[in-house]
Amino acid sequence: MSELITKSALELAEGLRSGEFSSVEVTQAHLDRIHATEDDFGSFITVTDELALETAKSVDARRGSGEDLHPLAGVPVALKDLVVTAGVRTTAGSKMLENWVPPYESTVHLRVQDAGLPVLGKTNLDEFAMGSTTEHSAFGTTRNPWNLERVPGGSSGGAAAALAGFQAPLSVGTDTGGSVRQPAAFTGTVGVKPTYGSISRYGIIAMASSLDQVGPMGRDVADAAALHELLAGHDPLDSTSLPDEVPGFVAAARRGDLGGKKLGVIRQLRGEGYQDGVIDSFTAALDIAAAAGAEIVEVDCPSISYALDAYYLIMPSEVSSNLARYDGMRYGLRVEPSDGPVTAETVMAATRAAGFGAEVKRRIILGTYALSAGYYDAYYGSAQKVRTLVQRDFARAFEEVDVLVSPTAPTTALRFGAESDSDPMALYLGDVTTLPANLAGIPGLSLPSGLADGLPVGLQILAPARQDIALYEVAGPLEAALAASGGRVLDTLAEGLTAQ
Ligand code: GLN
Repeated sequence: MSELITKSALELAEGLRSGEFSSVEVTQAHLDRIHATEDDFGSFITVTDELALETAKSVDARRGSGEDLHPLAGVPVALKDLVVTAGVRTTAGSKMLENWVPPYESTVHLRVQDAGLPVLGKTNLDEFAMGSTTEHSAFGTTRNPWNLERVPGGSSGGAAAALAGFQAPLSVGTDTGGSVRQPAAFTGTVGVKPTYGSISRYGIIAMASSLDQVGPMGRDVADAAALHELLAGHDPLDSTSLPDEVPGFVAAARRGDLGGKKLGVIRQLRGEGYQDGVIDSFTAALDIAAAAGAEIVEVDCPSISYALDAYYLIMPSEVSSNLARYDGMRYGLRVEPSDGPVTAETVMAATRAAGFGAEVKRRIILGTYALSAGYYDAYYGSAQKVRTLVQRDFARAFEEVDVLVSPTAPTTALRFGAESDSDPMALYLGDVTTLPANLAGIPGLSLPSGLADGLPVGLQILAPARQDIALYEVAGPLEAALAASGGRVLDTLAEGLTAQ
């Protein structure tokens, strides 16, 4: 077992700079770990050994010749398989794109490549990012490194498991209603959903375009901050991309101090339906924050009670329109009907019947219904009004506090099949804590607050739009205070490894 795999991304960056080890060594150590553990974890759909080592070699050579490199150059990363990679199969976890090799490049992958980060592979996800457990993937399930009987969360379950399983020091996920933050919570890692529009969506396979956002994930706050700095920034190829300068997130995480910070606990996001251990861990973390000088107050965001209903109308509506492109005509799977005439309509029907899984079909049907003539005002229109109310609630709350806090998810990692296809609503309810941030476009971060019955619990921090830096100013010192009081959650797993 190489000790390189338990180092943080920033420690690796430092060691690479000082010449303590090479990128080839670091990359090979992670690839070895992936191959030794994939049968257990199933984090990846595709592992790109050769490409990763090629990048590592070239970074080592450039460093050797004294070139000025990006601070993260040579540190490997895993990409959720929703991020388009030119020349490397990109599946979105769907049979529809099982053999699709993109002819163009996403901005995220381009930035990662330009900075010299070897890409280890493409991680597993719920099909087209629809789900909370990674059970809805056409490429098998991913298991939680904390307990192989449990899900890693979703939809970025592979991204999170790769971190907690020490297969990758950094991961890129996406978050439409919680898909970065909730898997981070379930695996004891850190996941960030930036302000809508702050990381380019160009080349990110669309789920619900007004909610989708790319999110950096790491094993600690500073690592997530470093990846965030790399990915954020204006992109002319994305019409919703913000023009904002990218501030120093790592520096913010490190210089932070909880003294004088006002944390607002959202009254609507605790209480009934929350696992006892989750509430206990959350409350204990708030006590630690208070002891470190933070002021804790309760705030009301009444419209949050309707956010889930609004999300589950807006999201499927956008899904139904975005996924209309998978028609068997242009790219991806094409299936001709087994009998009867071959027409555009019959090919489309046969392709979609074969290519989409049950959850995707359910959402397309729901969304198509909600958008149909005569229903628009009753469903989509009303949901958009709720969305505005949620935004206003947050804006009002942020007049009184620096950040808002809540448990990231009502439960710890679920068992496989705990919520079956027969009761999708039960799973949807678990998104109540995370999806309000997507409706409002504001940034959110999940960091581990502790363990409940041996499984990680996540604490969510929310900040005003375009104030992502406020997340790090609180998360950095809070992480340090939590570590000082009870140790770091992931150290339990790391210790298990070094004992091997
Ligand atoms: N779990 C949520 C859903 O199923 C969120 C998914 C996501 O953020 N991609 O829609």
